[in-house]
Amino acid sequence: MSIEEKISNIKIKIKGKADLIAVSKTRTIQEIREAYNAGQLKFGENRVQEIVNKQNSLPNDIEWHMIGHLQKNKVKYIAKFIKLIHSLDRISLAKEIDKQAKKENRIINCLIQLKISKDETKFGLQISEFQNFYESLKTYHNINIIGLMGMATFTNDDDLIDEEFKIIKKIFDDIIPTDNKFKVLSIGMSDDYDIALKNGSNMIRVGSKIFGKRI
Ligand SMILES: *Cc1c(COP(=O)(O)O)cnc(C)c1O
Repeated sequence: MSIEEKISNIKIKIKGKADLIAVSKTRTIQEIREAYNAGQLKFGENRVQEIVNKQNSLPNDIEWHMIGHLQKNKVKYIAKFIKLIHSLDRISLAKEIDKQAKKENRIINCLIQLKISKDETKFGLQISEFQNFYESLKTYHNINIIGLMGMATFTNDDDLIDEEFKIIKKIFDDIIPTDNKFKVLSIGMSDDYDIALKNGSNMIRVGSKIFGKRI
């Protein structure tokens, strides 16, 4: 199946309910171009150097999403062009994004990344810290918090994944009535986006189901 066919199959499953972010980390410019030529304009990357190189080499109407752990000292390289940072999980990072956004005369959209999985390696803010963190971000005027991002446990246990997505959806739903900028729930990847969509995801991040397995 071509990249174009894979994208169109995923779009059929989304039924217009979610944005598709094509996760292009480790993929070549050529592969990204193939997706772009099929009409895909939103791409996600997890490394600063890679996203900068690709942004420089590809058309300007692409929306670049930072989905991976972000180091403070690298924010300055993406502040000019980044469309959405999915991985805001600490105050020191918020402070730096705000500072770099100000320099660029921009307001940068961010999602708060919540740790919903039991995996030890995953980044993200602890759920118990969410409320305080969210409140304290209100002092940063060059950051727009527009929603939440989460990654479920890497497992075949669909019930566990479902439980974890329900936790983040509940937090999302609690904020919505109080904040008209809060709109995006970024949950769901290649192996669990169907469960995410059932739980109200409106942004899925799909890599291998579009480009094939990463090696
Ligand atoms: C790699 C990655 C994805 C996509 O993973 P696939 O399983 O290839 O779809 C989604 N979100 C994040 C944060 C990632 O790092």
